[in-house]
Amino acid sequence: EASYKLFFNLLLVAGFVVVFLRIVQRYLIRPLQRIRQVLSALDARQPVPAFPPAPMAEIRAVEDAIVRFHATLRENDEVRLRLERLATTDGLTGLFNRHHFMGLAADEMARAARCGRPITVAIPDLDHFKQINDTLGHAAGDHVLRTFAGLLGETLRQTDRVCRYGGEEFAFVFPETTPEEAQLLGERLRVRLLESPPVLPDGRHLAVTFSLGLADASGCGLEESLARADLGLYEAKRAGRNRTVVTRRPDGL
Ligand code: GH3
Ligand code: MG
Ligand code: MG
Repeated sequence: EASYKLFFNLLLVAGFVVVFLRIVQRYLIRPLQRIRQVLSALDARQPVPAFPPAPMAEIRAVEDAIVRFHATLRENDEVRLRLERLATTDGLTGLFNRHHFMGLAADEMARAARCGRPITVAIPDLDHFKQINDTLGHAAGDHVLRTFAGLLGETLRQTDRVCRYGGEEFAFVFPETTPEEAQLLGERLRVRLLESPPVLPDGRHLAVTFSLGLADASGCGLEESLARADLGLYEAKRAGRNRTVVTRRPDGL
């Protein structure tokens, strides 16, 4: 009888331990494992973590805190992206601004120098742009700038670097491109602008042209190359506008 009692008591204790372990596993260990999984994969760009309803209030409090933490991470990430966009792009055209472009262009120049590859820089400037502002208003001028910027995106290659250099002046870096090839790209852009001119809200098509200065940038500094492209631009304006001028290097290249 004593053995039976002992066996029965042991069975009771074993049953109790099993039930206790099941409860601990269900109410504590599994939720904690889920929390660990979510925390190790927490990413501001991923959807809000979803927790199945936890039975314990304390666990729910931790899960709610993780959801709030994720929301804060997400907000911070969005603000960071917005600030980054503000710091690197031009608000009117959406193109990179001059400061950001100079960094990208310097990287391209360094890569071209390292690999001994051709690279060309260019400065286009819209012709008689002031007249558009003066006769049609500033909003029409802004529309022309946006249209031109849109055409750049459609016409130039993904690898080309483009920026709004200031006012109605832009700047390009063409990696892996000789000035002769860049001249063809410039002409392609000229044709695109002719075929798809800016259209005013009243339906009027504006005949807009640009002048382009080009310079071979291989084997020389960025500032120096841009200065030569600017010289080419000046020459293009002087020669009657709506054309491209390539400025040769002092060494004749
Ligand atoms: P050129 O053919 O010699 O380049 O003549 P231009 O009239 O294009 O050049 P100019 O430098 O005389 O005038 C540039 C004008 O661009 C003057 C300025 O008011 C205008 N401009 C600069 N930035 C903006 C802008 O963001 N929006 C508008 N609408 N106009 C701008
Ligand atoms: Mg101009
Ligand atoms: Mg100008």
